[in-house]
Amino acid sequence: MRDQILSLLLEQQRFVVTTHTRPDGDALGAQLALGRFLEKMGKEVLLINSDPPPHNLEWLPGIDAVALFDGALKQREALAAADVLIVVDTNAEERLGKLGPIFKNARAHTLLIDHHPFPETWFGRSYRRESASSTGELIYELIVAHDPGLIDADLATMLYTAIMTDTGSFRYSSVTVAVHHIIADLLERGGIQPADIHSALYDTRTLAGLRLLSRTLDTLTLSYEGQISFMVVPQRVLNETGASVEETEGFVNYALSVEGVRVAMLFTETEKGTKVSFRSKGDDHVHEWAQAFGGGGHRNASGAFIRRSLDVTIEEVLDAAPRFISLASPVLEDEELSPEDAAYLSSLLAMQSKSTQQ
Ligand code: 5GP
Ligand code: MN
Repeated sequence: MRDQILSLLLEQQRFVVTTHTRPDGDALGAQLALGRFLEKMGKEVLLINSDPPPHNLEWLPGIDAVALFDGALKQREALAAADVLIVVDTNAEERLGKLGPIFKNARAHTLLIDHHPFPETWFGRSYRRESASSTGELIYELIVAHDPGLIDADLATMLYTAIMTDTGSFRYSSVTVAVHHIIADLLERGGIQPADIHSALYDTRTLAGLRLLSRTLDTLTLSYEGQISFMVVPQRVLNETGASVEETEGFVNYALSVEGVRVAMLFTETEKGTKVSFRSKGDDHVHEWAQAFGGGGHRNASGAFIRRSLDVTIEEVLDAAPRFISLASPVLEDEELSPEDAAYLSSLLAMQSKSTQQ
């Protein structure tokens, strides 16, 4: 399969590569790396997205070359003239913004390179693996299968950023021996400094963003006996703090980090509706839950955009929990018993232990 994809890349000349709306480190890192790889093979490449990069990824090498789709004739002509249209890091038309219908209805070859489950079926070819840590890992595999010597500092930086951001800095269950081998190879070939990349990505919070985090943490609520947690970002608080909505990236992980929580959600109010981020641990999967509300994603990290008010969305999403998670029945703990019941229980236990000693 890898060879077939490489043949397509080698045979064709004009490529367009896009990724999902509100692009993250894996989306942009993978897109830029694929673009650079194709250029190194002597191809013509247009990188084009529906949304601009977030502030903390604006330093990525080559990011200025990513065009923002504006629907202008020149861009439409370039899209129409392409031999191959490639989508990385999402498999759904809806996640491509205004570029979605153009890619889906194209006469050119379409290629999907991705690690999300449940791909849509309109792609002509695909290079995908759900167990891959990131789309960056898949792009690395393609480059190495062709010529590992192509990996320079820029390519290493793009791929390192993709893999690091999509693995939560190498801590998710998608991290394997192979991932660490890839990272070692990128450090060796690219001569890059992981600490600098990490710092450029994560030490760039604004004061407004941290104030928003503080206000958001105040909303942390546990439900279903502490198995589900959620936090809320109302528009009013976004306005009051002056933070941008992109700065909520990563907030949901605080809700998931509470001991005993199996699923965490962040509800963000926007003008057109409510964005929900779902995160879960281990075998508790949230992608079907997100799908039920028109979204999707990975088993442990999904999202949906729901055209309802904040309050209605919170209620409906939480009420749906038992359909998607087998919630443990509440465990009776000592402090939940009345003093009388607790005294009775301990006398029963004392009697039992006496009888077993006899
Ligand atoms: P986040 O909560 O960080 O916005 O998104 C987590 C993951 O959920 C993303 O990587 C993406 O796979 C998926 N996702 C988020 N929002 C949507 C959406 O509106 N539709 C679909 N299909 N997937 C989404
Ligand atoms: Mn990804």
